Amino acid sequence: MSRFLKASLQSLAPYTPGEQPRGQQFVKLNTNESPYPASPMVLSAVQAEVEKLNLYCDPTCQNVKELLAAQMDVTPDEIFLSNGSDEVLAIAFGGFCPNGVAFTDITYGFYKVYAQLWGLDTEIIPLDENFYLPPEKYYSLHKTIFVANPNAPTGIAYTRNQIEKIVLNNVDSLVVIDEAYVDFGAESAVSLTKKYDNLLVVGTFSKSRSLAGGRLGYAVGNKDLIADLEKLKYSFNPYNVNRMTQAAAAAVLKDKAYFEECRDRIVQTRTEALEELRKLGFEATDSLGNFVFVCHPSFSGEYLYTALRTEGVLVRWFNQPRIKNHLRITIGTQKQMDILLEKMRKIVG
Ligand SMILES: *Cc1c(COP(=O)(O)O)cnc(C)c1O
Repeated sequence: MSRFLKASLQSLAPYTPGEQPRGQQFVKLNTNESPYPASPMVLSAVQAEVEKLNLYCDPTCQNVKELLAAQMDVTPDEIFLSNGSDEVLAIAFGGFCPNGVAFTDITYGFYKVYAQLWGLDTEIIPLDENFYLPPEKYYSLHKTIFVANPNAPTGIAYTRNQIEKIVLNNVDSLVVIDEAYVDFGAESAVSLTKKYDNLLVVGTFSKSRSLAGGRLGYAVGNKDLIADLEKLKYSFNPYNVNRMTQAAAAAVLKDKAYFEECRDRIVQTRTEALEELRKLGFEATDSLGNFVFVCHPSFSGEYLYTALRTEGVLVRWFNQPRIKNHLRITIGTQKQMDILLEKMRKIVG
């Protein structure tokens, strides 16, 4: 540590991203990326932009906003675009938590990093033994609430109705719903943003839209909330979404059929993989994400993670209380899952 870091940040514990191995070939099922490349239409769209890299990109991202707004049945001024959804989450933690923040003990690990980064008063709500939290536990908290729906890393989701009740029972606080995995089977709360000014829905192109490396996230909410996000962005980094990413995202949005085909394949593969893992004795949550969250009664999470790694399969293991014996396994292609299952049979069989 240098002499120059300000005192309040000296104990900051940053987020640890999943391993991105270089060189060595792994079956990579550890960071919830799509196993399928982005739409073939992306390549030519990006190529045209490379020739214009000497020019700044459109800071309003108007083209992508219009395409996304049309698909989500909202208006462009109800959409904010960011450099990955992590960026809009960072801005929301910084700008929208005047009375502190509340989220659960087992959820997206970045929330507690942002809370610490911005020095927020933080209420951590424990999930029950089935990794569930009755929605009522979120009522009347008088803090900004962050809910990943489906949750990470469990994949367990609330219905739109349950989300609406959380929003209704916190009229004085903002409720942020992080829908990173919503396309794989959960109900989106986007339509509720028309009705409630205390709801912000956050999403990403990183998972279901195959653009993790392009970095594009979004928020949908009432236009005053969005104007506040824009104000904060223009006070920080106006050109936050580069021109290649804007072009790639536009191409992805235009190729809806390809998106649906990839998503459907992942959902189908999830069902098949879960069935096989259960045959091997694994217990699993009812995940609506592009991953499963499993544990085995006879083997520790660390043992399984290490054994799989030795066999060339990378999955995610969280060395933290309550979920130490679980693995989060991203749904890959059918072929990748066949390899995973073959190695698992060898390890637990
Ligand atoms: C992956 C993920 C994000 C971040 O995605 P970006 O790549 O930054 O868009 C946000 N929230 C949850 C719950 C995630 O799993």
